[in-house]
Amino acid sequence: MQRFNVAKFGGTSVANFDAMDRCANIINNNPETKLILISACSGVTNLLVNLARGVQDETKRNSIIQEISGIHNATIERFSEPHQVRQDINHITQQITQYAYTAVDKPSKQLTDQLVACGELISTYLLTQLMNERGLPVKRFDIRQVLLTDSNFGKAEPQIEQIEALAQKNLIPLLRDHIVVTQGFIGSDIAGHTTTLGRGGSDYSAALIAEAIKADGLEIWTDVPGMYTTDPRIVPQAEPIAEISFSEASEMANFGAKILHPSTLVPALRHNIPVFVGSSKFPEKGGTWIKKQVETCPSFRSLALRGNQTMVTLRSLDMFHAYGFLAKVFEVLAKHKVSVDLITTSEVSVSLTLDQTNTSGGAPQLPPLAREELEALCTVEVENNLSLVALIGNKMRDKKGYAKQVFGTLEDFNLRMICYGASPHNLCFLVEESVAKQAIQCLHKELFENV
Ligand code: ASP
Ligand code: MG
Repeated sequence: MQRFNVAKFGGTSVANFDAMDRCANIINNNPETKLILISACSGVTNLLVNLARGVQDETKRNSIIQEISGIHNATIERFSEPHQVRQDINHITQQITQYAYTAVDKPSKQLTDQLVACGELISTYLLTQLMNERGLPVKRFDIRQVLLTDSNFGKAEPQIEQIEALAQKNLIPLLRDHIVVTQGFIGSDIAGHTTTLGRGGSDYSAALIAEAIKADGLEIWTDVPGMYTTDPRIVPQAEPIAEISFSEASEMANFGAKILHPSTLVPALRHNIPVFVGSSKFPEKGGTWIKKQVETCPSFRSLALRGNQTMVTLRSLDMFHAYGFLAKVFEVLAKHKVSVDLITTSEVSVSLTLDQTNTSGGAPQLPPLAREELEALCTVEVENNLSLVALIGNKMRDKKGYAKQVFGTLEDFNLRMICYGASPHNLCFLVEESVAKQAIQCLHKELFENV
């Protein structure tokens, strides 16, 4: 049986001609790599998001469109046969101009998805042309023929079973004789409207498609050579991780290690597809393998940091020895679609942090109506400027003295909301944003350096 590999290249990996050429080398070096999903060229999605918000001033609007074209033209100029691809891309750029104009008066989530999808549509034209000129048997494919989602524009939910059936019908036959290049991030609802999976969603697309075609491996090529014991920008001594389990890697993605979109590992885990993460600029540096079974399960694997936390503390004497109070609180939160992340309780109070469920950036908000309803039940205090520090590892509870080691190191820090126990893989807490990096540096030194 033929083995299939799916490879995904992120925005920086397809930023320009030279970056795309490195992608072509990586693809060419592994004959099992049959399906390629890519992001928009670096910077393009952000520019398209700006247009989608509605840029009133025509000169400003045109200059954003010029900037987008400039990024793409720099690549087109390097082709030996640029004529056809230039025409195709000009056509999409005309659509961008049209949508951007419509967005001035009628911005909407649906229009936003239509606009931002153009970034991935264009980048796939470019990579296909480049691979073509190198003589590779390549075919561009519109993933909207397979990646069916609901109509929740901006953060659409993939329809797993239909995706599998559509992949069997529309995609697998192409893979026999071709390397297929297609778009990450975008999909289509049942009515044929373009949708997106949310910012950074290309990783998730790649995992969904890998699952649908029952791939043997998934490669995520990005701008860092894999996962590290912590962000090397915070701690230069951070060490690369050669191999990590799905559970640990999921915790890392969830708790702010920005390498993978948090949903990526769900389909990979469902189908037990090993995932490789590496740098397309320095493929020789290797990377991280994420697998079900790994050889070592250290107590301490890595440290992750997530900024912009919103902590809500609810207090009421009615909670004392009562029942049903928390149920009422969660009913209000559920009604207002507030997703809760961490939670700690005492006899008369409960503290929770809010999940960022949309792509607006910044700290997640407690909706004013939810706050009003909660205030009818208890006092409500909302605090910002907090960061979440997560220590990821395995069965820390079985390691005698681990708590002393962790908290002893942090004795000069004011720790809030310490959570441990629900998962054997993480311990986390909040600290003031201003000292969060310092907390990571101290912990890294104690737990990961000189051990
Ligand atoms: N181009 C999209 C973004 O910038 C999707 C992705 O890169 O994964 O969010
Ligand atoms: Mg990206």
